Amino acid sequence: MSYSELIKEAKAVGFTGVEHIPAESIVLSREFRDACAANRCGAYGKCYMCPPDVGDIDELMATVRTYTHGLLLQTVAQLEDSYDFEGMTEARKNHSRLTRELWKRVRPLLPDGSLCLGVGGCGFCSKCAKRDGLPCRSPENAMASLEAYGVNVSSTVANTSLKYVNGQDTVTYFGLILFN
Ligand code: SF4
Repeated sequence: MSYSELIKEAKAVGFTGVEHIPAESIVLSREFRDACAANRCGAYGKCYMCPPDVGDIDELMATVRTYTHGLLLQTVAQLEDSYDFEGMTEARKNHSRLTRELWKRVRPLLPDGSLCLGVGGCGFCSKCAKRDGLPCRSPENAMASLEAYGVNVSSTVANTSLKYVNGQDTVTYFGLILFN
C-alpha cells in the first residue's frame, strides 16, 4: 500500500488531517509515564493498555524506534465552549472509533508487526478485563496511547504541517500508525 493510498484511506474514514512522517522525527519523552503514575485519570493499573501493564517505558520507546514510517492521524472537533467536557469525551470516542476503523482496513495491507496507537486508555470495553483479572476480551481492538509509548505528541506535531491546537472551542486528538 503506497503512502498516498494510506492517506486517502485515512481521509475516507473521516480524519481531519493526515500526514506521512519519517518515524525518526517522532519526539519521545519519558515524562508522560510519570503523569500516568500520578493516576489522575484513575486508570493506572486498571487496563492492559495503560501503565504499568502496557510495558516498560524504555522498551516501548525502543519499539517506536524500530519503525521507519509513521502515519499521523488527526481529528478536530467543535465544542460548545471550553467547559464542554461531554463534547470532549464524545470527540475522543469518535477519534478512537475512526482509528480502529482505519486500523481494521489497513492492517492486512501493512507489514506484520505494524503498530497503531490512539488517544487516552484503550476504552474499547466499558470495563477492562484487567479489573476482573481476566484476559483481554478483544486483543485485535486493544489499543495503547501515544503517550504510553512515550510519544511527545505536541513536539512531534510541531515537526509537521498539522496543528496541535486548532482554534477556540475545539479539541484536537492524534493517533499514529507505525510501520516499516
Ligand atoms: S480490549 Fe477491553 S479488555 Fe482488552 S485492553 Fe481494551 S478495554 Fe481492556
